[in-house]
Amino acid sequence: MARIGIYGGTFNPPHLGHVHAALFGMKALELTELLIMPSCIAPHKQMPANSAAAQQRLEMLEQCFKGQSGIRVSDLELSRGGASYTYETVEALRQQYPNDQLILFMGTDMFLSFLSWKNPERILRHVSLAVFYRGEPEEKEKVERQKAVLEAMGAEVTLAENPVTEISSTDLRRLLTFRCAEPFLPNGVGDYIRSCGLYDSVRDLRNLPMEELESVVISLLKPQRVPHVLGCRDTAAALARIWGANEVDAARAGLLHDVTKALDGRLQLTLCKEYGIILDDFSSKNPKTLHALTGSLVAERIFGENEAVVSAICSHTTGKPNMNVLEKIIYVADYMEPNRDFPGVEKLREMAFTDMDKALRLGLEMTLAMLKEQGREISPESREALCFLRKERGAM
Ligand code: FE
Ligand code: FE
Repeated sequence: MARIGIYGGTFNPPHLGHVHAALFGMKALELTELLIMPSCIAPHKQMPANSAAAQQRLEMLEQCFKGQSGIRVSDLELSRGGASYTYETVEALRQQYPNDQLILFMGTDMFLSFLSWKNPERILRHVSLAVFYRGEPEEKEKVERQKAVLEAMGAEVTLAENPVTEISSTDLRRLLTFRCAEPFLPNGVGDYIRSCGLYDSVRDLRNLPMEELESVVISLLKPQRVPHVLGCRDTAAALARIWGANEVDAARAGLLHDVTKALDGRLQLTLCKEYGIILDDFSSKNPKTLHALTGSLVAERIFGENEAVVSAICSHTTGKPNMNVLEKIIYVADYMEPNRDFPGVEKLREMAFTDMDKALRLGLEMTLAMLKEQGREISPESREALCFLRKERGAM
């Protein structure tokens, strides 16, 4: 009796994490064959702009697993079309493999939501489940609880602790636009993506008109950050009118200031490495604050923004001594745009339109107090920025 693994997903695009999981699963579960099963995207599900077509996802997967014995890319779901329901897939496979063992791969999130899939009991009739999880205690506990629930329903569940290569297709699309995805791309996939012009990987994004810039930036943000970024853009433009800065620069810097914010600390470091940036001590230890630096690098290299915009983005989290008007505007707009809500924000909002230096100083003081309270490290730039303001303006 053969042991056939089924590894489904969107694979938009496939990445090294998928390849490593497939190879690991093949070995850990002693499979005879592993079927890689790209899902068809239902017409009602929105795909990100510039996504790969079904055929392209299939071709990329074939590229990934070329020469891997026992691993085969299946077009079963793609050729069926429409929404890809797993119960239909396993029932079709059961007909193809009437006497073999079928093992369905899944990650933690899928496993935990398994009972909300369509017809889970029909799935369990034909397959056992193989769950790949990271070894973190909290995750392990949840997974084991769910295993007990499903086993009570007669399911067969194998847990496999997998040294996961941490990257998601969503982050990989961002890195492709930022031209620094290489460390996560399987052999040949990067060339394929670029030759088809997928995921904005080769599109010239320099000096885009405002509306186009907005739609590209939105595609790179987490959805929950979009209102903040648009608020920051509008507030920055309004402040520029009051304080005599270039309104277009202010709006573009506001729009781009958090463009890399969706990347976690580890991917911030990846971006710096791929861009050849050597980091100071504070930044390497606090990669979460790096999005100001990486945002400015992306604004310059990918979006072709001017020096004023680039430097305003660069100082937006920490501030720095002797800031110019646009730098102050972006720092303060980020702090008090209409979606911000914390005690004292009203005062800061009012001040921004009457005394910019005072608003900047209040913002810096609040940040430093908060970091201190949370026991977090304060960047040298923030300290110096505040010293500079206190010296220059005295008590205010
Ligand atoms: Fe930010
Ligand atoms: Fe922000």
